[in-house]
Amino acid sequence: MKSDKIRSIIILTLAIFLSSCEQPETTESTPDIVMEQVDLILTNGKILTVDSEFSIANTVIVNDGRIVVTGDASLLEQYESRSLVDLDGKILMPGFIDSHTHIRGRPERYIELGETESIAEIQSLIRRKADELGPDEWITGYGWSEDELAEGRRPLRQDLDAAAPRNPVTLTRAGGHSAVVSTSALELAEITDATPDPEGGVIERDDNGAANGIIRERQGIVGRLVPDSTYEELIASLEINLNALLAKGITSITDASKRPGEFVMFEEIYSNPSIPLPRSAWQFQWFDPEGIAEVKERVGDGDEFLKIGPIKVFVDGGFTGPAAYTLEPYLNQGDYRGYLNMPEKELVTMLNEIHDAGWQMGIHAIGDAAIELVVDTLADTLNRSPREDHRHYLNHFSMRPPERTMELMSEHSIHITQQPNFTYTLEGRYVANLDGWRLEHNNPIRSPMDHGITVAISSDILPIGPLVGIYAAISRKGMSGRVFGADEAISVEEAIEAYTLTGAYLGFEEDIKGSLEPGKLADMIVLSEDILTADHEDIMNIVVEKTYVGGKLVYSN
Ligand SMILES: [Zn+2]
Repeated sequence: MKSDKIRSIIILTLAIFLSSCEQPETTESTPDIVMEQVDLILTNGKILTVDSEFSIANTVIVNDGRIVVTGDASLLEQYESRSLVDLDGKILMPGFIDSHTHIRGRPERYIELGETESIAEIQSLIRRKADELGPDEWITGYGWSEDELAEGRRPLRQDLDAAAPRNPVTLTRAGGHSAVVSTSALELAEITDATPDPEGGVIERDDNGAANGIIRERQGIVGRLVPDSTYEELIASLEINLNALLAKGITSITDASKRPGEFVMFEEIYSNPSIPLPRSAWQFQWFDPEGIAEVKERVGDGDEFLKIGPIKVFVDGGFTGPAAYTLEPYLNQGDYRGYLNMPEKELVTMLNEIHDAGWQMGIHAIGDAAIELVVDTLADTLNRSPREDHRHYLNHFSMRPPERTMELMSEHSIHITQQPNFTYTLEGRYVANLDGWRLEHNNPIRSPMDHGITVAISSDILPIGPLVGIYAAISRKGMSGRVFGADEAISVEEAIEAYTLTGAYLGFEEDIKGSLEPGKLADMIVLSEDILTADHEDIMNIVVEKTYVGGKLVYSN
């Protein structure tokens, strides 16, 4: 106390002395203004800070990879930089944080099918790959969806055979819950028309009882035969796939299901990247207490570029099967309600075990019954063993659960990372399997937000681009243009916050990223159009023109 008083007297005396020194000798002279030198200034923009007021600035000052300050153009009188960017009125906003995605390295045998628009196109990709690899080599692929194919149907065994009669082929549908395989792949897997369905899966048959090539939920019965890829080919393509996210404006991801062994690759890439990369966090998949032991002491470890995130638990399946675990039977499928990936008792033990070990969890729950069960279990767990700021969250939340479930989520701070883009890209699946109120409220966002639940938006690579998610979140439209449950729509500002700051929050990183505020990492993107005022129908056409990570320009179109 006493020394404080003395100190303040000294400061006061000093201040009086200094101010008397600063008295100008004449009233005409102007004091020298010392401009502060910084690394980067972006000005003349419409800068969405995504701060608590969603305030809009004109100028942002960046130094040492972080935001110094945002404000109006008068900041140019205080700061100067050799790197001054005129935004020309364009939107600058925080980079997207995709809090649920899957990025992999791909082997040479792999073909990307996410953008394919017809079975004919898929066939030509298979043909080209078969020529490149030669006969008998496996061809794999991912990302087709009958909803986007001109033929309006799924590719079947015969379609693959026609393109590459001498190669075994297995192509996984977008979402990963089914695959189509060729005749030679079926033969190698010794699957005949008489083979019974594997547990939890379906070998589809045509009207004559012959396998049509589609395997649902257990396509691993064929996929296990695909030879392992080399470490070198995987790591090279993984780095390219991570880098490609920057062009979509994604500056941070949480990769949602990795095995501990795969982490080595990420560590190697991030320790010495040859191209710019987004920031990554990892959700390790939970197998068993021993299997995860390797990770145990590492959870939460990492730095601003690569860190270990929450544990991933798979509770049910998806809608491509469908396999999501629902309260009421699926449309026109008898009393079928999907299923849990494990017996309920086992699930309860597992969630408790992970919570008690002190981990955060990101839990895959798609069907309303799965969501209700997980929330009931977590509420019991948290009542028994409360933990401040656990930030457990549900991945997906694709069906709207009972009111009581959302009330419990709010009460126990159980959050969500949700994919509104599913409403758009999986429209056909929802229409085939749900009806009425359940169909209208697929991928609800407004209702959980109104219950006080924290909801982040992410892609789950269906597709990766964040603008599809934002479009669907505000329009509630499927690919056909049909509107599903307009009462679940949110505003574009809410969607942007959910794709930036809330994503950072789920990763315990809201203090370092997710908004453009002093001290935070300068992870930012420039958009071609004004996303706040654009017609909803134009949002998916907006182009990411520039991406900055830590104040460095890492992508420019
Ligand atoms: Zn996923």
